Order: sequence, then C-alpha cells, then structure tokens
Amino acid sequence: MRIILILVLLLWGAYLWRKHSRNLLEKFKAFTDREDDPSSTPAQPSDAANAANAANPAAPQIQAPQDMVACLHCQVHFPKSESCSGLKGLYCSPSHRQLSEP
Ligand SMILES: [Zn+2]
Repeated sequence: MRIILILVLLLWGAYLWRKHSRNLLEKFKAFTDREDDPSSTPAQPSDAANAANAANPAAPQIQAPQDMVACLHCQVHFPKSESCSGLKGLYCSPSHRQLSEP
C-alpha cells in the first residue's frame, strides 16, 4: 500500500514538473524569438506584461512597472499615477496634501 502511495506522489510530482517546465520553455521561446527578429523594436516593459497577460488570461494580470514617488508628508512610496499633486509636490492622499499645505 505504501508503494502505491509513493508511486502516485512521484507521478503527480512529475506531472507538475513537466507542466511547469513546459510553461517556462514557452516563455523562453517567445523571448528568444522576439530577440532573433531584427525588425522588432526593443521590448518595452509594458510589452512583456501584455504578452504575459495574453499567454495566460487566467493568470493574475501583470502590471507594467510604474514610476514611484514619495509622499512629501509621510514619505511613503506609491505609484505616481495615484498621487495627489500639491503646490510643493506630490502626496499620497488629499488629506496629507491638506495637512502639509493648509
Ligand atoms: Zn502621505
């Protein structure tokens, strides 16, 4: 009975390993194909994120890298797109802007 259990675990592990290595191989192939094409433009981070999202729509969405800024009031870093701009600079929230610039 123990041998059957070990065999099942080994087969399950081999299945998971094959599945994972196949995904890695496809990503590597897509990456090298893009590099081999001389007409292609240099890959942008957003291109890689879009390619990853298109390859597996069920996977969590990968966001392109964003510029990070620090709040002038609390020094917390956050994406620049989520910032509130004030007279002196960028803030993480309207309340911190109001506290620094009354
Ligand atoms: Zn803040």
